[in-house]
Amino acid sequence: MQIFTGMDRLKLYYFSTKTLRFHELRWGKTKLALLGVLTGVALLWLTIEINQTNGDVLGIGIARTNALLNENRVLKEHLRIVAGRVEVLEKKLAQINEEGNQLRLLVDLPTIDEDTRKAGIGGVEDRIDFTTSADVNDLLNVLRNTVEKADRELQLQFKSYTEVMKHYETNKVKFARTPAIKPMNGYYAKKGFGMRLHPILDIYRKHEGLDIANDQSTPVYATADGTVELAGRHGGYGIMIQVNHGYGYKTLYAHLSKTFVRDGEEVRRGMMIGRSGNTGLSSGPHLHYEVRLNGISQNPSDYFFDDVSQEEYRAQKQINE
Ligand SMILES: [Zn+2]
Repeated sequence: MQIFTGMDRLKLYYFSTKTLRFHELRWGKTKLALLGVLTGVALLWLTIEINQTNGDVLGIGIARTNALLNENRVLKEHLRIVAGRVEVLEKKLAQINEEGNQLRLLVDLPTIDEDTRKAGIGGVEDRIDFTTSADVNDLLNVLRNTVEKADRELQLQFKSYTEVMKHYETNKVKFARTPAIKPMNGYYAKKGFGMRLHPILDIYRKHEGLDIANDQSTPVYATADGTVELAGRHGGYGIMIQVNHGYGYKTLYAHLSKTFVRDGEEVRRGMMIGRSGNTGLSSGPHLHYEVRLNGISQNPSDYFFDDVSQEEYRAQKQINE
């Protein structure tokens, strides 16, 4: 249908494909309705144009939709970047677990194995519907689960670190109070502890300690920090020193020629407490050394490394009398 308007007065024509002729549209319901629709469309177009050029003053949302679309694109892009970064952080935290395990071994704590760790940080991932598009929903779920996993990992590592520090402090004291060096330089029989023939009495009896042979007056050192319980003459032991280290440990140094400490005196590992001799039931100058744990005699050679001399230990610890 084509519409023409005359100049003298508004006349509307239409071309009929049936008659192949132009027909004038008479003023009436049809003409008025058509004019109404045309005016309406023109007005709407004009309104939208004015609104667009004035930054959506009417707030009908065309400019706003464009702005939101752009914003949405930027947000999605950055969400992906953040999700990637959080994943890297989470992986780094897992590496910290390995280093944490080395620390745990150092302070004699059981390591956190992979299963315990996974149980601790919770392997099950739940899904939340954020009522967004599927790809944004996926992205938000990945981000949320990774952040929560990282948070639990961090809590687990923090707990482990606190435990390590507590053990370290306790162990530091305990280690200082555990017999750990050779009390005197000199030769000793590897099988000196246990049943053996007594050199003077010539009978088999239990030997509760270790005999270290050396010249008369060789320096004798305390093998751990502790308090002197007994210093002086004591029967077959001759001149002896007994040190209480706490944690169930006691050490005994016998057949001495001299003692430099008194009852109740605090001693430190590596401190010279006496000199070797031949007092008491002794067949020659030597040191009889005992280590007791909760009253039971231990093999003293289990309580020192023969390759660490007192000189070496004292030099490193800078112990002076
Ligand atoms: Zn002995």
